[in-house]
Amino acid sequence: MLARSVVVTLLLLLAGCSQPQPVANNQPANVAPEPKPEPKPEPPKPKYRTDIVITTGVHGNEPSGYLIKDKLADLGFIVFGPCNPWGIEHGKRHLQDGRDLNRSFALDDCPEAEAVREFLRNNKPGLLLDLHEDPDGTAPYLIQNGPEDDLGRRIVDALKDEYDFDKEPQWGPIKGEDGLIKPTRGMLGFQKLSKVYSLGYYAWLTYGCTSFTVECPGTWPEEQRKAYHLRVCETARKLFSEN
Ligand SMILES: [Zn+2]
Repeated sequence: MLARSVVVTLLLLLAGCSQPQPVANNQPANVAPEPKPEPKPEPPKPKYRTDIVITTGVHGNEPSGYLIKDKLADLGFIVFGPCNPWGIEHGKRHLQDGRDLNRSFALDDCPEAEAVREFLRNNKPGLLLDLHEDPDGTAPYLIQNGPEDDLGRRIVDALKDEYDFDKEPQWGPIKGEDGLIKPTRGMLGFQKLSKVYSLGYYAWLTYGCTSFTVECPGTWPEEQRKAYHLRVCETARKLFSEN
């Protein structure tokens, strides 16, 4: 009898070994475990950089940037202008006192320059676009302050199917090529000695941001000038945000 019960016990043990192991948790085997809660998604990053400042109406006879100010603000740009309100009101390039605001950003006795500087102190630019028109220009071009940056070339390349940029643009003694004037670091250093600061130069010198003076022919129809400035601003933002 003893031997038989040992055999039976061994058989039961062997049979037990072939049984499925019990489910580790205390859920019934035929019920799927509750799904774990999904981790909360990260809030989406803004699609574009939000530190792009656009200035308008520095020269009052070049109003197309100022005329798209509200549209630019609706698109999320930080916009200021007109920088020269008297000039815009009277259609004049210069300030009421006869000075050129875009040569006056090193001066401490120019209230219009100080208004722009204060705006920039409160809205520090990562990139600045100053919208102009060239009354004598025959084709659009950009002036870039920011010698180590290739953004100006990338903007022109991105838009060259839409616009015939000036092949040989020139700003004073500084010559550019294929739609872009890009003073070297040496030229920018010389400009500092001269104390003749444009808005774009002041922004680069003060905040280290690349800046552009955006130029198109003043003889273009108003709608074309406005559309061009809008295209440059949107293209610059897209490319700058990809950096
Ligand atoms: Zn101008």
